[in-house]
Amino acid sequence: MHIHVRNPDESASSDPALFAQVQEGVRKHCPGMIVQFSTGGRGRDPAARGNALDLRPDMASLSTGSVNFPTIVYENSAALVTDLATRMQAHGVRPEIEIFDLSHLPGTRRLMDAGLMDERPHVQVVMGVKNALPAEEHLLDLMLGELRRVLPQATWTAAGIGANQARVMEWVLARGGDGVRTGLEDNIRVSHDRLAASDAELVRLAAEAVARHGRRPATPAEARAALGLHAA
Ligand code: ZN
Repeated sequence: MHIHVRNPDESASSDPALFAQVQEGVRKHCPGMIVQFSTGGRGRDPAARGNALDLRPDMASLSTGSVNFPTIVYENSAALVTDLATRMQAHGVRPEIEIFDLSHLPGTRRLMDAGLMDERPHVQVVMGVKNALPAEEHLLDLMLGELRRVLPQATWTAAGIGANQARVMEWVLARGGDGVRTGLEDNIRVSHDRLAASDAELVRLAAEAVARHGRRPATPAEARAALGLHAA
């Protein structure tokens, strides 16, 4: 469960107290579920993006380079990325690497070579953000080729934004990816003319896609083992 928090005025927040509340609720109501905090931008003060890492979520997202977003530059300077990776390592938080551009793969390799993470992070290629990497199947193959070359031990998935969600999921499953990503953060529709009722509906559709490919969703314990996380 990838988590952002918001202030009452709806702006994205880095307030550790809010992250703590959500983490506590997830652990209470969904024992074993993997908790992943976002350290992403969305208008957050860069200096505060790692403020909740000392709450020791299982994982945190980490973007290893900058990219254009629909209306802003998503800034991840080398110094900021290094600082976030250092804090994750200090608190035993495993990274999910968010790859928005090819250059973010060698950006991840540099963190490994600096001893700031092990060789087996979970890597997510994000496709279909306006002004960033387009959701094209051949581009996923290009990214995977480079991922396997520079990060050969990493587990991986890809996320498709908006209407790309279902088709990117199919590409990932067809290539034996280690997971799929879904949810209302990326996509609010189940079809061009119908809104998703909830995250739960999108998760159900993802589980059906997994089954169509002859696989099944991992249990929390299996997922923890596959991602190198401690047992709940
Ligand atoms: Zn997010």
